[in-house]
Amino acid sequence: MTTLSSSRPLTHLSEEELLFRDTVQQFAKDKIGPLVRVMDESQQMDAGLISKLFELGLMGIEIPEEFGGSGGTFFDTVLAVEMISTVDPAVGVIVDVQNTLVVNALLRWATVEQKLRFLPRLAVDTIGAYALSEAASGSDAFALQMRAEKRGGDYLLNGRKLWISNAKEAGLFIVFATVDAGAGYKGITAFLIEKGVEGFLIGRKEDKLGIRASSTCELVFEDCAVPVAQVLGEVGKGYKIAIETLNEGRIGIGAQMLGLAEGAFGHALKYARERKQFGKAIVEFQGMQFQLAEMATEIEAAKLLVYNAARLRDAQMDFRKEAAMCKYFASQIAERVASLAVEVFGGPGFIKDYPVEKLYRDAKIGKIYEGTSFMQLANIAKLL
Ligand SMILES: Cc1cc2nc3c(=O)[nH]c(=O)nc-3n(C[C@H](O)[C@H](O)[C@H](O)COP(=O)(O)OP(=O)(O)OC[C@H]3O[C@@H](n4cnc5c(N)ncnc54)[C@H](O)[C@@H]3O)c2cc1C
Repeated sequence: MTTLSSSRPLTHLSEEELLFRDTVQQFAKDKIGPLVRVMDESQQMDAGLISKLFELGLMGIEIPEEFGGSGGTFFDTVLAVEMISTVDPAVGVIVDVQNTLVVNALLRWATVEQKLRFLPRLAVDTIGAYALSEAASGSDAFALQMRAEKRGGDYLLNGRKLWISNAKEAGLFIVFATVDAGAGYKGITAFLIEKGVEGFLIGRKEDKLGIRASSTCELVFEDCAVPVAQVLGEVGKGYKIAIETLNEGRIGIGAQMLGLAEGAFGHALKYARERKQFGKAIVEFQGMQFQLAEMATEIEAAKLLVYNAARLRDAQMDFRKEAAMCKYFASQIAERVASLAVEVFGGPGFIKDYPVEKLYRDAKIGKIYEGTSFMQLANIAKLL
């Protein structure tokens, strides 16, 4: 028979996890909270805030201590992205891309030399970006057109990437290009490219509906020479790197959307307790209570999916289906909860003086990036 101690509830956090979560939550409230509105309006991430994310060790959560990182777990990353996103999902995505995509890919595929060169920097001051999408290849990511042509000890990269998160602030980019267009997905190769190298420019920055403080830019490569030593993983195995890192990335987006929903719900509950109509607090009306109860139930369900996917990953078990499910479901309930939160506030919900208007705008991206909801359903169906 299973003993109680060996069947820990999914949402039960260990002492270290609790301490970590509470520290990040406090940081988000105290240090991110006051900056949310100005960063959203200016479409600019606060530089001082980025430094604080590094100081707290949140940009290298899984980087081993020997490389200057925090030596944490994937589940810790999920807790950090969740807690930050309760306050600002735009900051959540910086932490998410850095940890679940960039650091994750390096930990799994980088050579010892590449790890020694890049991981200590990613842990202390260098933001990473992950460049797969192009204008003509989004959901069909492996139809990418960016070329990498071998020239002596270098690859010459030519082409453009679109929609790249963190691009404006990033110092290191994982860029996917094909070394053989005729070979289909088997030509796709990942490259580690630093900001400032000749032939590489950051292009137009997008003016977005939500997560406006997170930069999303085009990347332009014109005869950009990248040494062979900066190929990440094997030549022609970039598709495997992309598929596998995006599996983990999806759990991160699930955590971002979960945190967003929790943030919106917290504001809605507080407001419903304070606002009076017909002589009593609106939370006393059964119609309001039922809406809040539904929101809380959906959040709990999303949390179970996200936490389970993260714990499966840390246990080195197959988590592909659960990752797609948690991203699909958490982004659905984030949009719904944020929308209901706007309604709970009534008129004030529709203006920028209150936080739910921004969270409602931010929620939309959950159904689009790192695979649209349709693509998650296609992934889930394949794995049934
Ligand atoms: C803010 C933001 C940040 C981003 N950050 C990054 C990043 O850091 N790195 C990166 O590489 N990319 C990034 N992206 C790109 C993002 O991953 C893509 O936008 C996404 O994968 C969708 O691709 P698309 O925009 O080309 O849409 P399309 O693929 O053209 O999809 C359009 C519609 O068609 C549907 N569709 C497509 N194929 C099918 C199908 N087979 N069956 C049913 N429906 C289908 C889609 O679900 C969607 O509804 C970002 C995008 C945004 C908006």
